[in-house]
Amino acid sequence: MVTLDADLSGPKDACGVFGVYAPGQPVAHLSYLGLYALQHRGQESAGIAVSDGETITVVKDMGLVTQVFDERRLAPLEGHLTIGHVRYSTTGSSTWRNAQPVYRSVADAGFALGHNGNLTNTEALSNDLGMLPGVLTSDSELIGELLVHEYGDELRSDGRDLEHALEKVLPRLAGAFSLVLMDEAHLFGVRDAHGFRPLVLGKTEGGWVLASETAALDLVDAHYVRDVEPGEMVAIDAGGVRSIRFAEPTPKLCLFEFVYIARPDTQLYGHSVHAARQRMGEALARQAPAKADMVMPVPESGVPAAQGFARAAGIPYGDGFVKNRYVGRTFIQPSQKQRGTDVRLKLNPLRDNIKGKRLVVVDDSIVRGTTTRQIIALLREAGATEVHFRVSSPPYRWPCFYGLDTGKRSDLLAADMEVGEIALYLGVDSLAYLDLDHLVAATDSPRESFCTACFTGDYPVAVPEYDTKLVLEDASRTIHVSGHVSGTIPSSAERA
Ligand code: SF4
Repeated sequence: MVTLDADLSGPKDACGVFGVYAPGQPVAHLSYLGLYALQHRGQESAGIAVSDGETITVVKDMGLVTQVFDERRLAPLEGHLTIGHVRYSTTGSSTWRNAQPVYRSVADAGFALGHNGNLTNTEALSNDLGMLPGVLTSDSELIGELLVHEYGDELRSDGRDLEHALEKVLPRLAGAFSLVLMDEAHLFGVRDAHGFRPLVLGKTEGGWVLASETAALDLVDAHYVRDVEPGEMVAIDAGGVRSIRFAEPTPKLCLFEFVYIARPDTQLYGHSVHAARQRMGEALARQAPAKADMVMPVPESGVPAAQGFARAAGIPYGDGFVKNRYVGRTFIQPSQKQRGTDVRLKLNPLRDNIKGKRLVVVDDSIVRGTTTRQIIALLREAGATEVHFRVSSPPYRWPCFYGLDTGKRSDLLAADMEVGEIALYLGVDSLAYLDLDHLVAATDSPRESFCTACFTGDYPVAVPEYDTKLVLEDASRTIHVSGHVSGTIPSSAERA
C-alpha cells in the first residue's frame, strides 16, 4: 500500500499553538476546541499539556485533533492552565517523538512548550550545547534543551525559573518562533522580534487565552485583546498579564499568512483576511482582465479572491469543482498505479457548469505546480473551451525558512521559469499573477511590516544553506550559515 499526500503540491502549513490560563474552567476542553479551530495549520500531530498547579500532564499523538483526543483522553486532564499544539514539521521528521508539546523536567519541576515557526540558527545552537547529530531531532526540542541548561541547580524561591530561563534563551534564538510555554503555575506567550508568525492574546471567562489566530478565540468564547508584540513575552498567572520585552521589534509578519495560511475568518494586523483576499481578487481583475463566461475558484483557498475577481470584472461567479471534504492530509491508495488520480480524490469537475465555457480560474498561489497542471487538464477534459488562470499573489520563487514547508528551491515552479514558460507548462490560454504592490495594498498594511522573501528573495533574517528539515537528524550533513541574503541563494543547478 502506498501512502500519498492528498494535499499534493500545495504548501504545507507550519503549526498552530494555543494556551489558556483560567482557574475554574475546563481548560483541556478549551484547548481541544482551540486546536480544532487551528487544525488547518498542522495535521501531522496534536497535543495538550495541562497543569493543576503541581503536576503537568501531556497527551500527544500523531493525527488530527479529533483522532488524538476523545472524552476518555480529555476527562482526566484537570487543571487551570494548558497549552496545545498542532504540528506540521518544518525542522524534524514527522514522528511521535517530534509531536508537541515538548516536555522537560528540571529538578522537582517541569515545563512544556509548543512552537510555531522555524529557527534559522539551529546548527549553531546545537553546537553550543555540544549535541551530537540525532540526540535532538527538532528545533523545538532544542529550545527546550536550552531552557533546561539555564535553570539553576536549585529552583528559585520566586517560582519564576522558566521566566528567567526564557529571558536568557530568547535573545539567542534566530528565525521564526511564536511559542506557548507553561510550568506548573505560569503560562507564557512569546513572539520573535520579527513576528513572522501571528500570536494573539484574548480574554475569556475567568482568564486569558493565547492563540495563533483570532479565529481560535471565537470558538472558546474569548474576545481579542491584542497581538503579542514582536520581541515580547507575556507572562500570565494569578496576578494577571505581565509584558517582558526581550528584543527590539522589527515587524515582518509573513505575507503568505494573508494569502493562504491563515483562516479567512482571522484578523491580521487588525484586518479581515477574508476581505483582504477578496480585494486581492478585485485588484487581479483590474490588473489582468480576461474575456470569459465564468469565474471559478480552485476550492477552497481560491474562493474569496475568485469572488472579488468576478465582482470587479462583472463576470458571473460559479463553481467548477466539487471538493471532497473528507480527504485528509494522507490517503491510503491501493496501488502506485493510481497516482494519476491524485487530484480526482479531492476535486471532481462539475461538467455541466464547465462544458463549452471560457473560464477564469482563480487560485491563491502556485508553489510546485503539479496540482495546478492536473486541475487544468481536468477542466479541459470536462469541456472548457478556454482556461485563463489567475493567481492572487506573485510567483512563489524562493523557499521559506521561517516555518512554512515549501520544499527546496528546485521544487518551486517559478524558481527558474518566467510567466510565459509557466503558462506553457500548465497548458493555459493565459496566466497572470497579482503583483506585489497590489497584494500588499489589499492587506491595508505597510509593506515594510511584511516578510516577502518567498516572492522577492529578500530574507529579513540570514538563512541557513541546508535544504532539509532533518538537519538535526542527519549526521552526515555539514551546515553553513550565510550572512544577510537578498536573492543570492544558489539554485539547485548552481549548487550542483
Ligand atoms: S518566506 Fe514567504 S512564507 Fe516564509 S515567512 Fe516569508 S512571506 Fe511567509
